[in-house]
Amino acid sequence: MNRYAPPAADTIVAPATPPGDGGVGIVRLSGPQAEALLAAAFRGRRAPAAMASHHLYHGRLCRPDNTPLDEVLVVIMRAPRSYTGEDVVEVHCHGGSQILRSSLDLFLAAGARLARPGEFTERAFLNGRLDLTQAEAVAALIGARSEQAARAALGQLEGRLSQQLRKYTGELRELLLLLEAHIDFPDDDLGAIDHQAFAARASAVQGAMRELLQTFDTGRALREGVSVLILGRPNVGKSSLLNALLGEARAIVTETPGTTRDTVEEQLILGGLPVRLIDTAGVRETADPIEREGVRRAREKAAAADLVLLVLDGSGPLTAEDRMAMDLAPPERTILVRNKSDLPPVGVAEPLDHFPRQVELSVRQGAGLAALQAAVVAHFCGGSSEAGEGVVLTERRHRDALVGALAALERCLAAQSDGEPLECLALEVREALAALGQITGETTPDTILEQIFSRFCIGK
Ligand code: GDP
Repeated sequence: MNRYAPPAADTIVAPATPPGDGGVGIVRLSGPQAEALLAAAFRGRRAPAAMASHHLYHGRLCRPDNTPLDEVLVVIMRAPRSYTGEDVVEVHCHGGSQILRSSLDLFLAAGARLARPGEFTERAFLNGRLDLTQAEAVAALIGARSEQAARAALGQLEGRLSQQLRKYTGELRELLLLLEAHIDFPDDDLGAIDHQAFAARASAVQGAMRELLQTFDTGRALREGVSVLILGRPNVGKSSLLNALLGEARAIVTETPGTTRDTVEEQLILGGLPVRLIDTAGVRETADPIEREGVRRAREKAAAADLVLLVLDGSGPLTAEDRMAMDLAPPERTILVRNKSDLPPVGVAEPLDHFPRQVELSVRQGAGLAALQAAVVAHFCGGSSEAGEGVVLTERRHRDALVGALAALERCLAAQSDGEPLECLALEVREALAALGQITGETTPDTILEQIFSRFCIGK
């Protein structure tokens, strides 16, 4: 399974728990000497050689002169049934930073090497325990900022993306075999290749790959968060809306009020999405140069935001300032919010059909807030408020490779319709396979692998 390196000869060690004081601190070892290193330092009723794999044993960790260092629980996870695929030992110490450091020093002095960031996961990858998408999911899971992001990462860790990719590569390999058979044995009984069937199969893979590609927007939203701008003239209820959404949000991650004179920014989790909510100062028609500057900034912010909530006072007629705000809002990235639905309307509301998504709201009564939240989530998660359920592309690296594979298939189909020789078609299918292989790690260059694993924390 391992395509890159022979089994590691050295044994690595690192703290597996974060620095600082805690109930338990874990030192983890992985490699051929893990068990021997434990045997040299552990004193308990059972020697490590007699310990069952994946069982906890109580004892003491001692220095070479037999002075005790800590009372510990240890577990051996023997190869290949371990995270790295090698012999892994975990020593559960008391969670003080001094104890953890002394235990680490003990194993380092006995011959273990301090692990590089991500080296445990790298070994798991090199030993075929995880493919690259799964290894990356470990980092994504640790770094997840919302429940949905964590769920998407867990799906990837469980191999859902890999499964999907295996379907594509399986079909492409069959197509390649077909082409090669006709290239190698042109005069055989095979007859001419069925071009129509070939094109249909290649297009089907292409269609499925395009669908996966479209999930990247959701994936990016889950991973990096999105920016949502609240726009409208003064007094329509923008600040009230911001506060209501903040009140609804269970987890406020950070608060950065008044980052600039004319905007307030808040971070919150909305329907599982990490959202940066920006409240502009009201857009107002004015000759005052400072206020005009405010409008210019609002325009810039509306252009940069992932989504605009354009707030109107639904109970009154539209004003010139409302129309200015409307001009700033790009309809395809805007939800029109008609606030104050609790008040009796004055006259008939204008339909404003060029904004396809509209929500009626009364911030005062809390009516319509759930519908607004659902509309926001739907904008980013393709209509499903349950983002992260299916396979979602979250890594730009995966997206780029998938785009490369799609382009190769496109060229393959073009070559076919131009009547070019089968060798040309085969070349492109191989190219598509190589691009897909970069996602799972089969054909990923070492430099990229290094980059990926160096982003991990120590001990993972
Ligand atoms: P902003 O200037 O757009 O930020 O507006 P505010 O949030 O400061 O609200 C302006 C006024 O409208 C305040 O007096 C709010 O209490 C009121 N307001 C906000 N939302 C509603 C609503 O849904 N119904 C009613 N009747 N009044 C509201």
